[in-house]
Amino acid sequence: MNLDLGKDLLEFDRKHIWHPYTSMIDPLPVYPIASAHGVRLVLENGKELIDGMSSWWAAIHGYNHPVLNDAVSRQMGKMSHVMFGGITHRPAVELASLLIRLVPEPLEKIFFCDSGSVAVEVAIKMSLQYWLSKGYPQKNRLLTIRSGYHGDTFGAMAVCDPVAGMHEMFSGVLTRHYFADAPESRFDDPWDERDIHGFESLIRDHHERTAAVILEPIVQGAGGMRFYSPIYLKKVRALCDEYDVLLILDEIATGFGRTGKMFACEHAGVAPDIMCLGKALTGGYMTLAAALTTEKVSEGISSGEAGHFMHGPTFMGNPLSCSVASASIRLLLSTSWKEQIKRIEKQLVRGLSPCRKVPGVRDVRVLGAIGVVEMSQPVNMAEIQKRFVDRGVWIRPFGKLVYVMPPYIISDNELEHLTNVIAEVISGD
Ligand SMILES: *Cc1c(COP(=O)(O)O)cnc(C)c1O
Repeated sequence: MNLDLGKDLLEFDRKHIWHPYTSMIDPLPVYPIASAHGVRLVLENGKELIDGMSSWWAAIHGYNHPVLNDAVSRQMGKMSHVMFGGITHRPAVELASLLIRLVPEPLEKIFFCDSGSVAVEVAIKMSLQYWLSKGYPQKNRLLTIRSGYHGDTFGAMAVCDPVAGMHEMFSGVLTRHYFADAPESRFDDPWDERDIHGFESLIRDHHERTAAVILEPIVQGAGGMRFYSPIYLKKVRALCDEYDVLLILDEIATGFGRTGKMFACEHAGVAPDIMCLGKALTGGYMTLAAALTTEKVSEGISSGEAGHFMHGPTFMGNPLSCSVASASIRLLLSTSWKEQIKRIEKQLVRGLSPCRKVPGVRDVRVLGAIGVVEMSQPVNMAEIQKRFVDRGVWIRPFGKLVYVMPPYIISDNELEHLTNVIAEVISGD
């Protein structure tokens, strides 16, 4: 079938293709993108949009980057994929060695998988299998905080926020875990000791059933774009140690510099027992994720009755993904990324502060290269999206949140345009 660009393409899409969280009866409008370069998405009609989303945290170096393109095509000339059972290859080994040098110290064993949600499944399975191997099969629950987001598969869904997530719909199927209130102390707030009390009593009462605590460090992403106090995370780490519970940190959104540190857990100076990576891992080129763990956990798992870890996806360690991931990390390390993030942070603070005075705005907050305008009421997504596109920017709000996390290469002028358009659009201009 030869589709006419434009109308036919959109009609076919509307009729047959599911988009994230959409209806097949009344789908929201979608915009056909023909190509992308730098911080710009190019529509089929030639119009260019400045990208404020980095394709959901991923495209940190922007699009169509010559270095990353080259990494993929050079690898493609050798092999695009080969099974990982009984086979290894240079792209996987190189990426593993790069990552192990980058992550906090005790993490040194790596499991490659296909997507963020799967990395969360793998992390959860690691923690359960660790305690099973140690002779504590009753330690099979997780403890987390409200307003979290960890992915859409069933294991991950069960630790997403129980109200905003999909718990009610699937309540018969999802494992019931322990939920503490999300921390109230914001990133820069003075610490209030009462903030940890709920978590503390849950872990004290249920540690004998708890395999691991799972959290997004510092930034709760899709569950509300909340930035919380590093002291909370420090206290969580100490309580996990005290009560012999593993700590899983989900750095899928925060990893690779987004919050101003390479990994968000560095704000608190803590290291997890298991870390999940995804999204920006390949600079947004291909799907790849990883769960990293310590020698303690990997030896625990491997010395158990099963003797091996029970997971192994078909596309594990895909060479194209691994190659572009290594290239993306090297590219990041070769730039002054910390200064870039500081620059973006400063300008987001300046550019978004006028939004505070707009009626209907509840809060404006910025951390690293993340800027959030929280409204008091949910926005009309289709309508607001169109107004953004008409003004030449790509910003996709959800619920009450209008937010940006642009590619790190965005220029001051482009960023100013993004924040000006946000202020205009939420003011109803
Ligand atoms: C996006 C995200 C996931 C899920 O990753 P997918 O690649 O969409 O499966 C998990 N955890 C966090 C914190 C995320 O932001």
